[in-house]
Amino acid sequence: MTVRIGVIGTGMIGEEHSRRITQTLTDGEIVAVTDVNAEQAQRMADNLGLSAKVYDNGQDLIKADDVDAVLVTSWGPTHEEYVLAAIEAGKYVFCEKPLATTAEGCRNIIDAEIQAGKRMVQVGFMRRYDSGYKMMKDVIDANKLGEPLMIHAAHRNPEVPERYVTPMAIHDTLIHELDTFRWLLDDDYKSAQVIFPRKTRHAHSKVEDPQMVLLETVKGVRIDVEVFVNCQYGYDIQCSVVGEEGIANLPEPQSLQYRQAGKLSSDILQDWKKRFNDAFDVELQAFIDGVANGEIGGPSSWDGYAAAIAGDVCVKAQESGQIESIEMPERPGFYA
Ligand code: NAP
Repeated sequence: MTVRIGVIGTGMIGEEHSRRITQTLTDGEIVAVTDVNAEQAQRMADNLGLSAKVYDNGQDLIKADDVDAVLVTSWGPTHEEYVLAAIEAGKYVFCEKPLATTAEGCRNIIDAEIQAGKRMVQVGFMRRYDSGYKMMKDVIDANKLGEPLMIHAAHRNPEVPERYVTPMAIHDTLIHELDTFRWLLDDDYKSAQVIFPRKTRHAHSKVEDPQMVLLETVKGVRIDVEVFVNCQYGYDIQCSVVGEEGIANLPEPQSLQYRQAGKLSSDILQDWKKRFNDAFDVELQAFIDGVANGEIGGPSSWDGYAAAIAGDVCVKAQESGQIESIEMPERPGFYA
């Protein structure tokens, strides 16, 4: 079965995902596109050689009879509206992070999905599909490290634009770690604290950089994450899980080693697209296969909600400078 997909939002990641569905993955076809900027939607369709229909708005695209599933890759504040409309139309929906920009918005989606009676939503937390993180998860689940005790992690970008401000270090950047650690540890967060070390001279005036986020989980695992978005040297994701009997380190991305001019060296990636390219492929193929089989999995609306709650508390902790507690409501059996 070919899954006929409608794409809402044809900006950077909308185009990336549409390209991979069209050129790399199997069993998916982009049949409909829309963007607030209709010319951009048409341009993307032309660039990729699609014969997709360009819709005036997301709501009409969702209702179209020939759209089996929806990809929401528009601006974050529009996600809730489109995900709710897709659920109401009985269509599976892949939603880029964030699921919604507020925890309340995520809760609305959860309520609608439970009402629909089956999982309809996959959230774009692609790290769960990265081969390195999957290896770490397997090792933890097989209890090869003993009980996990600590995680040391870092999320570094070479630089960020002027519009990137302090809370975005949480909502746009740390959000991936917030989901990944819950999933790796099968645990929830209990508290968060954010510490601002000495500021780098490479950061503009509206962003505190770097930041250190300290998390504590319900099971008592302690996590420190460095978020450093003007590190200059490259895009670098580090993660080390320390257990009672061993340590698992996230593998470095494959890179050629050179021996030259008296030096042993290898290149460091410069952007997240290359770092997680394969994970994005696996993630979207899983969505397409799930739609074809009538059963989708992966990061759920509940996971989107949990990350939103933790993210909001981290922003509060940025502002207060205090340790802030994270209260997670009880998970409905629907998402067990
Ligand atoms: P982008 O380049 O700005 O693209 C977003 C597109 O959506 C733009 O073309 C925008 O049009 C359009 N749009 C805005 N409101 C809309 C509406 N009401 N209906 C239809 N289209 C609308 O942003 P992006 O970088 O692709 O990010 C899109 C989403 O993906 C964000 O939520 C972002 O957090 C997420 N993302 C996730 C990852 C990841 O690692 N998983 C990476 C990057 C981005 P205008 O430009 O005209 O406003």
